[in-house]
Amino acid sequence: MNLINTIQNLGYLLASILFILGLKGLAHPRTAVRANRMGALGMLIAIVVTLVNKGMSYEYIIAGIVVGGVIGTIMALKTPMTGMPQMVALLNGFGGLASALVAGAALIELEVDPGALHASLTQVTLAIGASALIGAVTLTGSLIAFLKLQEIMTGNAILYPGQQIVKALLGAACIVLVAMIVANPANHLLYLVLCLVAALLGVLLVIPIGGADMPVVIALLNSYSGLAAAATGFVLSNNVLIIAGSLVGASGVILTMIMCKAMNRSLGNVLFGTWGAASEGAKGAGMEIYEGKVKSTSADELAMILDGVTKVVFVPGYGLAVAQAQHATRDLANVLKERGIDVKYAIHPVAGRMPGHMNVLLAEADVPYDELIEMDVINPQLAQTDVAIVLGANDVVNPVARDDPHSPIAGMPILDVDKCKTVVVVKRSLSHGFAGIPNPLFALPNTLMYFADAKKALLDTIAALKEQ
Ligand code: NDP
Repeated sequence: MNLINTIQNLGYLLASILFILGLKGLAHPRTAVRANRMGALGMLIAIVVTLVNKGMSYEYIIAGIVVGGVIGTIMALKTPMTGMPQMVALLNGFGGLASALVAGAALIELEVDPGALHASLTQVTLAIGASALIGAVTLTGSLIAFLKLQEIMTGNAILYPGQQIVKALLGAACIVLVAMIVANPANHLLYLVLCLVAALLGVLLVIPIGGADMPVVIALLNSYSGLAAAATGFVLSNNVLIIAGSLVGASGVILTMIMCKAMNRSLGNVLFGTWGAASEGAKGAGMEIYEGKVKSTSADELAMILDGVTKVVFVPGYGLAVAQAQHATRDLANVLKERGIDVKYAIHPVAGRMPGHMNVLLAEADVPYDELIEMDVINPQLAQTDVAIVLGANDVVNPVARDDPHSPIAGMPILDVDKCKTVVVVKRSLSHGFAGIPNPLFALPNTLMYFADAKKALLDTIAALKEQ
């Protein structure tokens, strides 16, 4: 038994080291693929050494692996890159559900086999309460995030009078219920009530968040799922679960803070503010700003504009991912570079639908990393740029965020493409982006709208350049 314990703990140590090195490697595109494999290997080691235990019901475990593996494989194959945030939201929710269920099972086990306790009864029941609480909040919060992102329910903020008080009361009720579970672990009804109240809290925490705040919420829910897993690690006295859960929890919090900084928002403001609510009123409104001011362009005209310029900046956005135009973008960039034109890509931290979305997309097309320039670095260079080609980006280049303090996205840092000599916006219509508000950039005197699917527009422009 001792030997098995030692082997397990050594395996957990190795797995934890692989997780930490994997996380470190994920910070750079060059090392990200290897890092991902290291994390997966760590998880495989952790699972295998956990299964080397007496009294396991292997038939259930194998059935679970087969069913879960098939569902996971189908989901991963079917989900397009643009649907990743929804998938991440769902997976976070399932993580929360698993933690809450394991906590419930551990509570029942306490009665069946009290001698199996690895820590004091108070410690274990406290961990069970924390796991149920955070797990249930994560489950329903993530499901609401999924429904919003999948556009099954409105993506706007849903507000009601006294919402902060209701949430505070539910939060307080959860803490009291955890204390009651610690005092009376034999009363399983308390666990069920805690799960229900926490589930309601999860729904109410996410429905008032809307519009462009969703990326931050997903990062935060990711962190919650890690914290729930860490709490479950304490329930089971499983070191690798505690470490892996803490890593997810901590990295999720760091990502949340990075996203908040990118959106120029405080976390409190995202969770309790009314950004999405403000955009509600603005949605669909304001289209009159375009009347008589929008100038459209074509592949031939764009090819003429690009003839003789010295500096071009591509601005990729969500539409580039929808059009899967990353390879066509690289091809146009190569044609321009052959003509001696300096080409760069301006990367906004929340362009697309997930953190790092544009980096991943362009890396897929082998765009050199040193041509991807972060927002803070490229912004001062835009006034000296001849042409900015905006490819399916909208909110991240909307000047109202910078110029209009009453705008629903006021304060969100943007790419200042309006300062370029010429801006060519490639999108299919004048319709709005994720935040649901009009974009005065489209009506500026130095802007030309190229109404087309991004991939088709790029391929047509390459053909037009080659015909010159
Ligand atoms: P936006 O959502 O603001 O705009 C995308 C634009 O792409 C649309 O206006 C659409 O216009 C256009 N588009 C769609 N399909 C195509 C196509 N096939 N070809 C050409 N254009 C197309 O995208 P941004 O990247 O500018 O901004 C991201 C937004 O998403 C921000 O508000 C951000 O807060 C939010 N968000 C970001 C997340 C992240 O982590 N990065 C996660 C969740 C939300 P049209 O229909 O006219 O073609």
